Amino acid sequence: MSNTNRLASRVKLSEEHLITRMLNIADGLDDVIKLGRGDPDLDTPEHIVRAGQEALGSGATHYTHPAGILPLREAIAAQIKAHGGADYAPDEILVTPGGQHGMFVIALTLLNPGDEIIVPCPGYNPYQQAAELADATVVKVPMGMETNFTLTAEMIRPHITGKSKILVLINPNNPTGTVTPPDEVAKIAELAAEHDLIVISDEIYSRLTFGNNRVQSVAALPGMRERTITLSGFSKAYAMTGWRVGYLAGPKDLITPMTEINHAFAISVAGVSQHAALAAATGPQDCVDEMRAEYDARRRAMLKGLDAMGMAYAEPQGGFYVYGDVASLSLGIGAGAFCERLLADGRVMMYPGTIYGDHTDDFVRMSMTQPVPRIEEAMARMRSVVEAIRAE
Ligand code: PLP
Repeated sequence: MSNTNRLASRVKLSEEHLITRMLNIADGLDDVIKLGRGDPDLDTPEHIVRAGQEALGSGATHYTHPAGILPLREAIAAQIKAHGGADYAPDEILVTPGGQHGMFVIALTLLNPGDEIIVPCPGYNPYQQAAELADATVVKVPMGMETNFTLTAEMIRPHITGKSKILVLINPNNPTGTVTPPDEVAKIAELAAEHDLIVISDEIYSRLTFGNNRVQSVAALPGMRERTITLSGFSKAYAMTGWRVGYLAGPKDLITPMTEINHAFAISVAGVSQHAALAAATGPQDCVDEMRAEYDARRRAMLKGLDAMGMAYAEPQGGFYVYGDVASLSLGIGAGAFCERLLADGRVMMYPGTIYGDHTDDFVRMSMTQPVPRIEEAMARMRSVVEAIRAE
């Protein structure tokens, strides 16, 4: 028997995934501008790196408490509160090796086969993968330009059944870079309470919002704390993707079993990374303001370029993504084909919305993970490719 035939049925091997195909094309090209992955190009601020180095030198090289070192859990609780979240005790915080790991901890702690989890589409797809691993049923709520790609309570309502258990809200959303307005978050929370749903509120980009947009934390709404798990982490706001520190915050009767599952998977997060995260949470916060200002400048540069070529987009309100509408360019090709063409002819990489569960092949996600001059160059190259396709 070949090893491929020995794999568990939950393993889904796509023949040649579009991203793999694009990465292969990019490997053969020079000077590709990568607007694909959601990994900040910015460096982790120096004082955070230093704290990690010092921790390494002073023996933080062992397993820690499975929920994370106490000072970090205290600092996370304080930070959540300071930014408009709920009040948590340290034993209501679970530090995980990245927020993404937390999604799998949640799914395996809460979902039985046949339970339904409602997810926004397009949305961050590991929520679906985690639910599938738990043999739960993923119920997708399609979103579009009419709500600037954010969920509304009325869109969710028809998808609720007697088997619904979890509702996922990603705010700001990835891949769309959009923020669900606070009054809509309140309506969604009411709906969840009415149907006794647990809400997973992914607020990992909540410190990176633009203009007047702000994120209403679900757990801080009346009656929601006991049914909400807030998922967040240090990767995005502090440019710490490689350190792998995320967290779940929720009521003790959910966080305790999640800590058990997390322990079974990971024992604990690397101590060095936890000490770096502690420095991030307790140190000067101007680094976050500086990053937000930088992303805002990049966002303006990108929108200027898109406006110049006549591409429509969802209004980017938070995170570091712009969700552009390829169909609005009337090129006669879908977003997937456009991405491949743009990479091969323009040496610019971006991802089609289909990989985030978009039900159309109309949109592309552009990450603002390059400095302004590179974004300007990417927009110029993209415009040339668009004009070349139009001229065919
Ligand atoms: N949540 C969202 C919406 C994300 O986009 C990501 C990463 O891209 C994560 C969570 C996970 O981040 P990490 O595992 O680095 O904490």
